Amino acid sequence: MTETVIRNAATLLTMDDTRRELSGIDIRIRDGVIAEIGTGLRSAGETLTATGCVVTPGLVNTHHHLNQTLTRAVPGGQDALLFGWLQTLYPIWGRFTPDHMRVSAQVGLAELALSGCTLCSDHLYVYPNGSRLEDTIEAAQSLGIRFQPTRGAMSIGESAGGLPPDALVEAEADILDDMIRVIDRFHDPREGSMCRVGVAPCSPFSVSRELMRDSAILARDKGVMMHTHLAENDQDIAYSKAQFGCRPGQYAEDLGWTGADVWHAHCVKLDVQEIDLFAKTGTGVAHCPCSNCRLGSGIAPVRAMRDAGVRVGLGVDGSASNDTSNLVAEARQAMLLQRVTRGADAMSAREALEIATRGGAEVLGRPDCGQIAVGKRADIAIWDVSGIESAGSWDPAALLLAGPTRVRDLYVEGRRIVAEGQLTTQDLPLMIETQNRLARGLAEMV
Ligand SMILES: [Zn+2]
Repeated sequence: MTETVIRNAATLLTMDDTRRELSGIDIRIRDGVIAEIGTGLRSAGETLTATGCVVTPGLVNTHHHLNQTLTRAVPGGQDALLFGWLQTLYPIWGRFTPDHMRVSAQVGLAELALSGCTLCSDHLYVYPNGSRLEDTIEAAQSLGIRFQPTRGAMSIGESAGGLPPDALVEAEADILDDMIRVIDRFHDPREGSMCRVGVAPCSPFSVSRELMRDSAILARDKGVMMHTHLAENDQDIAYSKAQFGCRPGQYAEDLGWTGADVWHAHCVKLDVQEIDLFAKTGTGVAHCPCSNCRLGSGIAPVRAMRDAGVRVGLGVDGSASNDTSNLVAEARQAMLLQRVTRGADAMSAREALEIATRGGAEVLGRPDCGQIAVGKRADIAIWDVSGIESAGSWDPAALLLAGPTRVRDLYVEGRRIVAEGQLTTQDLPLMIETQNRLARGLAEMV
């Protein structure tokens, strides 16, 4: 048995069923699970003092392309819209090797952990030069972060009317075979699982109707979740109408891509009927506000989605279109972006934090995560609010309204993977040095 007590948190934002906020409170962690919340708790093992700290559930990232941390701020992609941006980056991703995949995933996951993330999904849809999904799974294991990788895919290349170059697409039979392989090998459906695999054709404009349908059938047969990009911008809607004769919501519904086991990234352009469809079917959304700003895609109707009952989580999206992977900063951006068109009362700091924690866990099918309550997994973020950025704060809402943007300590499954602001599981300077060397190598080939 391993046990830790986190003592004397100034404020605990539980995100439990009644959204309790507790002061001067202790949390007992036993064998990776939250065992007790109270005062005056004594530990048979470790004790960590959280005096002066705000404690929250670990944040949940519902959409990322971790490999893109190696293509941040690429000059040709800095100011392009979605389709032009993709066409700039595809050839660079085509040069990636398993080493690039592993190191870039480590960097992205480390950055997420330092910003409070304990559970991360990833959408890897390019597999050049022998790269495999397990390159990223190994990276997550080495950091100790809870991981939900999805086996992405592209199958319609330029010569067939798609967007990606032919060299980056795969045969659909091979894609389905590899989806089966990685599910059978790595998917752990149990409560407290550290790795669950999903299936994720990249987008309606890069795979066929048949692959969308077949991967949905496969996912349901295997009992895994399904993910893709949907309704990201106006071009995306126009493509759907021109190619499929319908809007993206209809396309998704026709092919089995709605339901509680499905979540779609972006959904910036969902209309009222599509929001209603998502609410009725329990379909989830990964809201990626920084990416939507960066690519000029628009403002996702998150207020309307939440009001209609759509499950919404937060995603930093790939690091070629954010370009950071700071999840608490992403929560702040989500809060601010709704206010741009809907007014200052459109989204509170607490609601944005709820979306970033409990909301994301619900989208990823993880009711065992995303809240601090007895019996839930011990995924906990501890924020030191004694620094300059939050000096003078009156309320814990300052975590999003002011800062900080890095955790002091982070627990995943009861294991302290960030301690006093430093990773405990990996050598961060070495990781950064390796990543920069790989990025320079790619830049020299362009
Ligand atoms: Zn994406």
